[in-house]
Amino acid sequence: MSQKSNAESSAQTETVQVIVVGGGNAGFTAAHAAAVRGRSVMLLEKGERDMAGGNSFYTAGATRIAHNGLDDLQGLVEPDERHAMTVVPPYTAEEYAADMAKVTEGRNDPELTQVLVSESQSTLRWLNSLGLKYRLMYERQAYERPDGSYLFWGGLHVGNVGGGEGLIEDHTRVAAELGIDVRYGHAAKSLVVNDGRVAGVVVETVDGEKTILAESVVLTAGGFEADPEWRKEHLGEGWENAKVRGTPYNTGDMIAAALNIGAAKGGDWATCHSVQWDAFTAQNESNRELTNRLTRQSYPLGIIVNTEGKRFLDEGADFRNYTYAKYGKEILKQPGSVAYQIFDASLRPMLRSEEYEMPDVSEVIADTLEELAAKLGIDVESLEKTVSDFNNSIDRNIPLDPNIKDKRAANIEPVKSNWASPIETGPFYAYGVTCGITFTFGGVKADTFGRVLNEEGKHIDGLFAAGEMLGGLFSGNYPGGSGLAAGCVFGRRAGSLA
Ligand SMILES: Cc1cc2nc3c(=O)[nH]c(=O)nc-3n(C[C@H](O)[C@H](O)[C@H](O)COP(=O)(O)OP(=O)(O)OC[C@H]3O[C@@H](n4cnc5c(N)ncnc54)[C@H](O)[C@@H]3O)c2cc1C
Repeated sequence: MSQKSNAESSAQTETVQVIVVGGGNAGFTAAHAAAVRGRSVMLLEKGERDMAGGNSFYTAGATRIAHNGLDDLQGLVEPDERHAMTVVPPYTAEEYAADMAKVTEGRNDPELTQVLVSESQSTLRWLNSLGLKYRLMYERQAYERPDGSYLFWGGLHVGNVGGGEGLIEDHTRVAAELGIDVRYGHAAKSLVVNDGRVAGVVVETVDGEKTILAESVVLTAGGFEADPEWRKEHLGEGWENAKVRGTPYNTGDMIAAALNIGAAKGGDWATCHSVQWDAFTAQNESNRELTNRLTRQSYPLGIIVNTEGKRFLDEGADFRNYTYAKYGKEILKQPGSVAYQIFDASLRPMLRSEEYEMPDVSEVIADTLEELAAKLGIDVESLEKTVSDFNNSIDRNIPLDPNIKDKRAANIEPVKSNWASPIETGPFYAYGVTCGITFTFGGVKADTFGRVLNEEGKHIDGLFAAGEMLGGLFSGNYPGGSGLAAGCVFGRRAGSLA
């Protein structure tokens, strides 16, 4: 059977051994893995070159891998004179697997998880051998201690040199070195199927539609986070209003194409990764200049109130790597889908500068809480009561230490479990946040080599998936840095068979 009749005879037909659809981290990784095996590879990317790189471009490059401490990371991370003053606690594959199970409340696919955690470091080392560069993420994952030393926390220690932009720059250079034919402005529309086997894709370009035939097709075209209709349908009412943090191109095209030819749905289609995101600055969607700087990640140090001046979650439930991806949803639920992170003058210097000193950051500063409430349009009495109740409930005998879960709690409803610090020293700072959607967790079902499965659990010959498109790893929440890690591990695996 052929879905594209007479495809082979069309003048608009090209042939290659492996097609990869989607030029983000997972796609490039799959393409490299196929190319180093000597396969001819064409990578089709919907965006033009100046809009390429997918969500991966927008990232901080943070990549979660298992390791046995700093000695074990030598040779992978770039040298840095601070290493001598740095402690990087080991993060074992068992801890990684336990974190996956903890944040997803056990809904993570155990086989995919096992592969992810056991191959995370070796896959990064392989990418490093091809030319991708990694470093320790001092500015995001460690606070400098008074003696000038550093203690890393939260299981996430390694990142790309140059963040997401550096990642895509490295991938693009390596792809050129490996002879991968990267085609920008090529939006895949549908899959060509011959005799039950996927045999190519139909693409739309400025020059019109064409068919590209191949022995294998690897789908790495992202989730459906950039499509408001799909968000509303699958994530629920209100999600159509979430801000798109990353690429505008991940509209579920290839998920739909795969389902059309009989692929089974995989993973949790009803939840996604979403964060606290600058609510008011202009251009707070798909912003390629500011990328990840629109995130507001220092909330574990302060409090978050809604427009009624009330707290509604535990800001210090865990290191931010384990809570940030589920708190966007909590903001979406608040009146107007807006909330304010509040800090006082003693906390302000500890906020991540790349985010809180972003150009045109939504920031309100006031000498008193009364003035702050007035400026925010929040009922003054309500905000003052929230803050004084919070301040009065803190066990001040425990020292504040953001490098560890210090158990310095605010024993109030809702509790703040760690890092409770009184909001009492002016000036006071408020940052308006809304819900920014990162990526969706539902995709297609595949085995641990990314071979796409149909509803009967059988392989669809010639079809692979990786990255956001591969459902099953995440649900409800997500441990920071595991999206890039998953794209690397399963992209490489898919490319090693394609
Ligand atoms: C602001 C932000 C910060 C993030 N920070 C981190 C972080 O630090 N660490 C981390 O692990 N994760 C992070 N993430 C999540 C991370 O981006 C994703 O998990 C990961 O990049 C997904 O990689 P991917 O290759 O599957 O998708 P993408 O990188 O999104 O690539 C998909 C590509 O497919 C293309 N495409 C879509 N449809 C088509 C089509 N029809 N035809 C052809 N091409 C198509 C898109 O244009 C895109 O280039 C962040 C995400 C965002 C938005």
